Amino acid sequence: LVSREHHVERTVVTVGGVPLGPGTLTVIAGPCAVETPAQTLAAARLAQAAGASLLRGGAFKPRTSPYAYQGLGEAGLRILADVRDETGLPLVTEVIDPDGVRLVAPYADMLQIGTRNMHNFALLQAVGEAGRPVLLKRGFGATIEEWLMAAEYIAQRGNLDIVLCERGIRTFETATRNTLDISAVPVVQRLSHLPVIVDPSHSGGRRDLVLPLTRAALAAGADGVMVDVHPDPATALCDGDQALTRPEAAEVAEAVAGLAPLM
Ligand code: PEP
Repeated sequence: LVSREHHVERTVVTVGGVPLGPGTLTVIAGPCAVETPAQTLAAARLAQAAGASLLRGGAFKPRTSPYAYQGLGEAGLRILADVRDETGLPLVTEVIDPDGVRLVAPYADMLQIGTRNMHNFALLQAVGEAGRPVLLKRGFGATIEEWLMAAEYIAQRGNLDIVLCERGIRTFETATRNTLDISAVPVVQRLSHLPVIVDPSHSGGRRDLVLPLTRAALAAGADGVMVDVHPDPATALCDGDQALTRPEAAEVAEAVAGLAPLM
């Protein structure tokens, strides 16, 4: 269902009225995690400075360590909904288990499946039935074929509004958190009609890499990028090292504005 054999023309997925796919260069930005109403609103303003037309933010955080900040849960979803109302930015937020879909879907314009859950087939099937577009991140240990098969699990339940997100894979390299697989962008675009975006924040794990990786992603033909921003990265409860503040956010906006989208 997600292959170009099934559907030759590349697909545009519409998220809360915002088109994402060929002919667009969409920026999704926001805090890695929702912490407080003020932090989330300030981050949404930074997202706008980065040229974002969609707001990201995690209320449920599947962290590697059980001792790390796990998110505010439903209270975080309420904050995100308020900030969406205030800014007009449709909301992309993560859901981490099948039972959570019923809770998260009414708040979300797009449901995110994180890298650690790409193989969670029950969750993929649940979001396939949730009536919301899905942002499917690549598993950090998944091949492109496994990633596309994960998308197939969603599509098989009747939901073809899927956007794929390359977010880096695990390699022997330790200089970056993960290795951004730039070749995945054109490879996936040849195999699948679904839009493909890149997350330069979670792949590199470093603020100084977000702009060059954004440029690389867009040069490779990505349909957009998803970046983390934070009003005060030094105090961030989650992934502050990669969060952009206003000057870097403006550089991302400039890099995107300077390019023409691919069809
Ligand atoms: C995120 O986008 O909030 C996130 C945790 O990313 P990933 O699943 O790619 O690590």
